[in-house]
Amino acid sequence: MKLPATRDEVEAGGWRKVEARRCKLCGVPIDIFRTLLGKNAPLEEVLVDGVRKYISHFATCPHANKFRTPKHLKPAKPEVPKTGDLFA
Ligand SMILES: [Zn+2]
Repeated sequence: MKLPATRDEVEAGGWRKVEARRCKLCGVPIDIFRTLLGKNAPLEEVLVDGVRKYISHFATCPHANKFRTPKHLKPAKPEVPKTGDLFA
């Protein structure tokens, strides 16, 4: 599926709308589609050359970076404390 695409194109690509809601982060109305890979894709309808088309909300959301946690920001696994011998 190549975006932007019209709703017909999105559905012809096998994506299925599962929910219409607002982005939790910026409040823009978005449609959640289930992709062929079984992932949820938040799509936003915009006018492209006068035609309503869907684009990925990841591309427009001012808070898109909060949707994904970059690997380097993930907390490292807590180190297992070495059980020292208290009476050594
Ligand atoms: Zn958003």
